[in-house]
Amino acid sequence: MSLSIIGSVALDTVETPYGKKKDILGGSAIYSSVSASFFTAVNLISVVGNDFPEKYTRMLDKKGIDIRGLEVKKGKTFRWEARYRDLNCAETLNTHLNVFEGFRPKIPPHITPKGDLLLANIDPELQECIFKRIRPKGLVSCDTMNLWITQKKKVLEKLLKKVDLFLLNDAEACQLSGENNLFEAARYIADKGAKMIVIKKGEHGVLFFSPDLKFILPAYLLEKVKDPTGAGDTFAGGMVGYLAEQKKINDRILREAMVYGTILASFAVENFGGESLAKVDSKAITKRRGDFEKLTRFYK
Ligand code: AMP
Repeated sequence: MSLSIIGSVALDTVETPYGKKKDILGGSAIYSSVSASFFTAVNLISVVGNDFPEKYTRMLDKKGIDIRGLEVKKGKTFRWEARYRDLNCAETLNTHLNVFEGFRPKIPPHITPKGDLLLANIDPELQECIFKRIRPKGLVSCDTMNLWITQKKKVLEKLLKKVDLFLLNDAEACQLSGENNLFEAARYIADKGAKMIVIKKGEHGVLFFSPDLKFILPAYLLEKVKDPTGAGDTFAGGMVGYLAEQKKINDRILREAMVYGTILASFAVENFGGESLAKVDSKAITKRRGDFEKLTRFYK
C-alpha cells in the first residue's frame, strides 16, 4: 500500500539551549514523510518557493519519497521561527505562510483513492480540500496544532467526522475540548467523529484511545535532546507509515505502530532539522526497537 501526505514543507529557524540554526529543512510533511518512508511508499503533496534548496529535493528523492506532488511556486518557501527555553515547549516567534497563501494543490494522477492519507499539520481548510479531491478509501489520519484550533476550530471539527486516526498533543487536546483531563478530552474528540485518537505528551510519551483499546507508551529514554521540533510529525509518520503496510489493523498492530512512531521520534529530537532524520538507517531503528522493548518490559 502507499501513503499520501499533505502538510508543510518549511525552512525553519530554531533556537534551543544547544544552539541556533537558520533556514534548516523542516515542516510537518517533511518530518512525517521521511519517517513514514522507512516503512512504506510515500507520495508527498505540498508546495515550496523557488528559493527551496535543490539539495533538499535531491535528499527526498534519494529517500524514495515521490515528490511529483511537490509544487514549486514563484515566491518564498513557508518559514517558521521558534525558540525553546524549555525543551517541552516551542515558542513560535514567526510563521510566514508565503507560497501556502491561497495554495490549492493539483493532485497528480498517480495519487489514487486506493492508498492511505495523512493530513499532517497544516491549515484545516487545505486538509479538507485534499480529502475531497482524493476521496481516500484507506486509513485517513490527521494532525493539527494550537494555531489552527484557535483560528479554524469549526473547520477542524467538521473534518474530524472523516478522520479514522486523529493525533494531537496534550495541550492541543485540552484547548480543543475545553477539558483539563485527557480522558475527557479524548471523549470530546471521539464525539466529534474521530475513531482513534493519539494524544502526544512529548517526553512523557503517548496515550491511545479507541472504543476497543486504551494504550499508554512512554517516550524512548534519551541522554540528550537537542531539538524537539518535528517530534510529533515524526511520530505520526512512523505510526501511519507502519500501518500502511499492514493487511489488517488490530490491537497488536496498533501497539507496534506506536512503538515505531516513538522510535522514529527519538531519532528526530537528537539533532536539528529534517535532514539528520533522513540519515537514520533501518539497522539503527531495529536496534533501538529492541532496546525500547527492554526498557518497557515488565513481568507478572
Ligand atoms: P512539531 O514540533 O511536531 O509541532 O512540528 C514543528 C514543525 O511544524 C516545524 O518544522 C514547522 O515548520 C512546522 N509548522 C510550524 N507551524 C506550522 C503551521 N502553522 N502549519 C504547518 N506547519 C507548521
